[in-house]
Amino acid sequence: MSIETQIQSLRNELREHNYNYYVLDNPTIEDFEFDMKLKQLQELEAKHPEFYDPNSPSLRVGGEITKNFETVVHEHRMYSLDNSYSKDDLLDWEKRIEKIIDGTVEFVCELKYDGASISLTYENGSLVRAVTRGDGTQGDDVTANVKTIKSVPLQLKGDYPDKFDIRGEIVLPFEGFFKMNEERLEAGEEPYRNPRNTASGSLKLQDSSEVAKRPLDCLLYSIKGRNLGFSTQFESLEKARKMGFKVPEAAKLARSVYEVLEFIAYWDVHRHNLPYETDGVVIKVNSLQQQEELGYTAKAPRWAMAYKFKAEQVSTRLNEITYQVGRTGAITPVANLEPVELAGTTVKRASLHNADQIEKLDIREGDEVYVEKGGEIIPKIIAVDLSKRPLHSKPTQYISHCPECHTELERQEGDAKHYCPNYNGCKPQIIGRIQHFISRKAMDIEGLGGETVALLVNEGLITNYSDLYDLKKEDVLPLERMAEKSAENLINGIEASKQVPFERVLFALGIRYVGETVAKKLAKHYKSIDAIAKASVEDLVAVDEIGERIAQSVVEFFSTEENINYLNKLRDNGLQLELSAEKLANQTDKLKGLSIVVSGVFETVSRTELKKLIEDNGGKVSSAISSKTNYLVAGDNMGPSKRAKAETLNIPILTEFDFLSMVK
Ligand code: AMP
Ligand code: ZN
Repeated sequence: MSIETQIQSLRNELREHNYNYYVLDNPTIEDFEFDMKLKQLQELEAKHPEFYDPNSPSLRVGGEITKNFETVVHEHRMYSLDNSYSKDDLLDWEKRIEKIIDGTVEFVCELKYDGASISLTYENGSLVRAVTRGDGTQGDDVTANVKTIKSVPLQLKGDYPDKFDIRGEIVLPFEGFFKMNEERLEAGEEPYRNPRNTASGSLKLQDSSEVAKRPLDCLLYSIKGRNLGFSTQFESLEKARKMGFKVPEAAKLARSVYEVLEFIAYWDVHRHNLPYETDGVVIKVNSLQQQEELGYTAKAPRWAMAYKFKAEQVSTRLNEITYQVGRTGAITPVANLEPVELAGTTVKRASLHNADQIEKLDIREGDEVYVEKGGEIIPKIIAVDLSKRPLHSKPTQYISHCPECHTELERQEGDAKHYCPNYNGCKPQIIGRIQHFISRKAMDIEGLGGETVALLVNEGLITNYSDLYDLKKEDVLPLERMAEKSAENLINGIEASKQVPFERVLFALGIRYVGETVAKKLAKHYKSIDAIAKASVEDLVAVDEIGERIAQSVVEFFSTEENINYLNKLRDNGLQLELSAEKLANQTDKLKGLSIVVSGVFETVSRTELKKLIEDNGGKVSSAISSKTNYLVAGDNMGPSKRAKAETLNIPILTEFDFLSMVK
């Protein structure tokens, strides 16, 4: 066998295995064997670059780096979809169709996959381009990244049109999403919020080998082109499957809106068993000729309609209302429910937010309540079924004293929450404050976790965060599950935290209403903890974006004797209580009062560096262009709509070099 034939046959074999594994979910070869064959191919290809093929299965592992994603105009515009929410909406849509179309209309029902839309261009059976939706008219060329997604065929099977675009959705199945998050948590990184954003973020990674590691999938639903050899949407799906694309089997024909509703009713329940997210159903007129007659509005096809699932609701009994105390002393009422299945999980608790919320809905123990879960939010109670209220039920009496330390609760005017004022004597507050102090965005103390903090407090080893700096290895060794090595790590982690910069120390102190951003503002303005401690409410509110509520809270914090004691101890231990000299040197007021938008990719600085430069020089970074924007710093590949908007609003557009010379 010639080398070329050998390479070709390995490629074909691996292609088929990829197809079986990733498209059909039906592998016919051991992973190990697959890896051996892949290795063999890679070796042959390395020795014989003359047989290079950009669509070889060996290139699935990625490696190509894209610095700037090129903008590509879609040959066929990628429209949005109109939304419907009810049977009536769908019947109205059917009426509008009947006005235009003579004769019967059939529909295809498909699931609406929730990911990032993509358009794939194939020529002579090879993938030549993958482009994001962008603004619908043009998107970003993300071919290198999409090639690493194993269910995207690089080379088609059977017979195929010479040239066509196929549209689909790049999704991240739940299983892979959860696994990625586990790994992130282990690495101490913030977990990703939801599969959809993670999928679309993945497409814009610069290093395609990073994309290759992500378990992305690509589900297809629409073919665009000329002389395609089919006349209905349903046939096109069948055709796409034959070419080797992954087209979910859920798609179904419906002869009327009533059959469409059956499809919706079925999937409203069964979607929770799918391996990936769906947020509705897409209904399309089946005949392509009828589609053409119906045409498009400015935004969406008239021949298609999305139906959005409602957030799921169930009713269950509210057994008891309990109260939690947070680190700031804020009280959160919690509904303890009779366990109930909702959107695929068992729900036992729901947040009741605050006293007003309970009063507004007149929620009482023993009530039958409706619970709703939408997207990623924790379940909430939306109403009470009054017809089922027990005869002698009494309105809920909100607690007047702290459930943990029995101190009388306080509620400030304009504040929805009650607070336990026993700042230094209330256990959950003490523990919560120390947990906040060590958390990742604050002191980020390695080797110390929330549970250990609780243990340290409960064992009486510490009573506040400054005590952490007294701990010795011998103190913590006797703790449950504390080995020599972990004790060492803990002490080293605490030692290392002495280098954490001032603004994060300030955030770590846990002053009520002083979040990360406010801490940064205060640190930048006052430059040291002593200056902040001396500031009056009037001084503080004069600082940009610091309001009365924050100012009062800051003043209160520094007028509490215990806090001053803790601070002094932190100071004695060498924590950073002022901005470093280096930081001070880099700060100017050159951009004071200016609001600046940064967009695109830059040659000599990263976006993060640019933003930091703006902030260090007193400017404000904002994300969207508006009439209040003073400058737009534009890099390569900036979205065309951003540029257009800046031009219409007459906002000066700077290159990175213009900008850098401004702040030098
Ligand atoms: P929207 O973004 O809400 O306007 O909805 C339109 C988007 O739905 C399209 O751009 C697709 O990315 C997505 N979509 C998901 N599943 C389908 C499907 N089966 N048919 C058409 N579009 C779909
Ligand atoms: Zn308390």
